[in-house]
Amino acid sequence: MNTHFNFFMPAEILSGKDIVKTSENIFSSLGKRCLIVTGKSSAEKCGALSDVTDALKKAKIEYSVFNKITENPLTRTCCEGGKKAREFDADFVIGIGGGSPLDSAKAICVYAANEHIINDGIYTEEIKKPPLPLILIGTTAGTGSEVSGVSVLTRENGRKQSVSGKNYYAKYVFADPQYTYSVPMYTTLSTALDAFAHAVESYFSKNHDFLSRKFSCLALSEITPILSKFRNPDFSPDDDERDRLYFASLYAGFALNKGGTCFPHGMGYALTEDYGVPHGLACAVFIPVFLKEAKKGDVDGYSELIKSTGISENELLKLLNVLCKADITIPIEKIEEYRVRWATLKNFKNSPTDFGADDGASLVYNLFGQQ
Ligand code: NAP
Ligand code: FE
Repeated sequence: MNTHFNFFMPAEILSGKDIVKTSENIFSSLGKRCLIVTGKSSAEKCGALSDVTDALKKAKIEYSVFNKITENPLTRTCCEGGKKAREFDADFVIGIGGGSPLDSAKAICVYAANEHIINDGIYTEEIKKPPLPLILIGTTAGTGSEVSGVSVLTRENGRKQSVSGKNYYAKYVFADPQYTYSVPMYTTLSTALDAFAHAVESYFSKNHDFLSRKFSCLALSEITPILSKFRNPDFSPDDDERDRLYFASLYAGFALNKGGTCFPHGMGYALTEDYGVPHGLACAVFIPVFLKEAKKGDVDGYSELIKSTGISENELLKLLNVLCKADITIPIEKIEEYRVRWATLKNFKNSPTDFGADDGASLVYNLFGQQ
């Protein structure tokens, strides 16, 4: 057995109920002024924002809230957030939310310290000064953005693209699953599917290693039994199940951070950009075919992965077919556009077999094409 692994994840994770309320000293250690980055309303709704502002007040830290982050955040909005951080003279940034505000907060730390980087320049310009220190507080159980050095933003042309590396990690993560309790059911399912897809894709990616596979299996063993309950349309996870989903999204994040994503994520971006399908669902619709491909390419690892889900291969495929439904129709011209775009996509190259842009286009045609 090849037990070789590399593990790099420099953020300190502090977990547990009410961890924000008892971590005044961590906030104080980062400075006297802070920019809080959130989406429209969820940070307030879930209680995280008031917990943070109470702790900041106690620590006598001045703060300003930048709440302009939308789903699939734009480089332009993040650049504006960077400007706001500079104008406020922030010493550090706190990101509160799902993947969108967390990814944005990472980028805002880079823009804030590097005035020469404007909008899409984040993909090409050199980072000359270290980003502002960052604290992340997740409120969805899906992306694992808290523990990854990845920020997924939307370019000025409307296409999603990630930036990654050592400059995109948080310094601290406060992991308190109670903030996910208010997530609506449809988003709970889609974000759980995102974490599921991270675990599966990174498991079979060309860059996986021994330890990342262990994290994938741990995540799948927690997520799959709860996903199975979503077959009942009236299912609503209890607090314990919410906690499990949240921590599993972090385990999947550890796996993702090493292995990276494969063609389901690359192809899923298109369904989100052009048809508004939520990120997790958009990627998970391609997982059944990804599993079929992986089985062709890596039979040993395949049975270990299926075992970790706690159900048989057949049951798993049936479950994914029931849960992953996107009611969209994609015209042939659009699919041809995707075929060209996907020819250079790195997510295909990271996949375990030679499944390429032509196969991806045929798959989209079979699933969503006008028949
Ligand atoms: P999201 O886009 O952050 O949020 C989705 C919706 O859920 C928003 O309407 C948000 O409201 C709401 N919401 C969030 N937390 C809530 C709570 N506790 N209670 C009630 N509503 C809540 O969703 P996400 O799935 O977590 O993130 C998706 C993004 O992450 C995509 O852009 C994706 O590409 C990216 N992603 C990043 C990574 C990575 O490694 N960095 C990995 C996978 C995906 P508000 O707008 O009010 O906040
Ligand atoms: Fe994802």
